Amino acid sequence: MNSIPRIRFAHLPTAVEDMPRLTAALGGPKLLIKRDDQTGLAFGGNKTRKLEFLVAEAKEQDACLLITGGAMQSNHCRQTAAAAAKFGLDCILVLAGEHQEEPTGNLLLDFLFDADVVWVEKREARDAKLQEIYQTAQESGCKPYLVPYGGSSPTGALGYAFAVEEMLGQGIRPDWIVFGTSSGGTHAGLVLGQRVFGYGGKILGISIDEPEEKLKAHVAALASEASEKLGPRIQFSPDEILANDRYCQAGYGVFGEGEREAITLFAQNEGILLDPVYTGRAAAGMIDLIRQGFFKKDETVLFWHTGGQPALFAGKYQNEIL
Ligand SMILES: *Cc1c(COP(=O)(O)O)cnc(C)c1O
Repeated sequence: MNSIPRIRFAHLPTAVEDMPRLTAALGGPKLLIKRDDQTGLAFGGNKTRKLEFLVAEAKEQDACLLITGGAMQSNHCRQTAAAAAKFGLDCILVLAGEHQEEPTGNLLLDFLFDADVVWVEKREARDAKLQEIYQTAQESGCKPYLVPYGGSSPTGALGYAFAVEEMLGQGIRPDWIVFGTSSGGTHAGLVLGQRVFGYGGKILGISIDEPEEKLKAHVAALASEASEKLGPRIQFSPDEILANDRYCQAGYGVFGEGEREAITLFAQNEGILLDPVYTGRAAAGMIDLIRQGFFKKDETVLFWHTGGQPALFAGKYQNEIL
């Protein structure tokens, strides 16, 4: 395992904190939070753990350019742009949307990190544009490294396999881990780490934008593939992946009452900031499940904070939060 290329720049281990006031406000179970919003790179977030492995792979391939894509307020793109700056690489981001006269939130930071932003009108057009940019870069002699959406390749997922080892090393063994899942790398890494490092609790991903069945199949495949980087292949089946897609019906990035309440409860009981797209939605799901009695009162639930707070200051959301 030590031969896997990794550049250690994240601030690890991230803290695990009790949330006693939120626990009381919701009437149990005992709530903990793992602060991956504080991984240290440019406002932090879950992509930092993945980028430790992805940037190492890019460097090993002598890449001079990172290319990736995402939504206009992509945390993944902001973190990738920051990592590129830190390691002296160029960065091109393919974002869905249109040129913004006054960039806000993550997009503002992308420009601050000097990433080149290429706009495509529709989400579906991103793949072709990424390929085109990749080809052009290759021909120009600057070796490109294509960072997958959300950093969710088998290489990127390793970041979260080792995050489980880190949590166990902190003496933390919650009955449940709850977090927001989308491109699946965090989820896949966690279930892989669970198996490899022996964690006996349950790992429940609250879907941000994908139907449950699709997500489970994708996470199982990704975890299986990532396992080969650590040793003999472990075959994960979709049935053993826990995911809940009941909180994403409004669509990706659509801010609603659940997100607003979750952000407010975390802020006003614990002084902790969630984001409007991912952790707000994931926490809304967790809160609803608590109210439904899904968790036992004597269980411990760890909410894994995955970051994303710059989106609080995105024009799209800043006026909706309160
Ligand atoms: C990307 C992201 C997620 C989802 O992680 P995946 O590995 O893509 O499933 C969750 N929360 C935040 C804040 C993110 O930026």
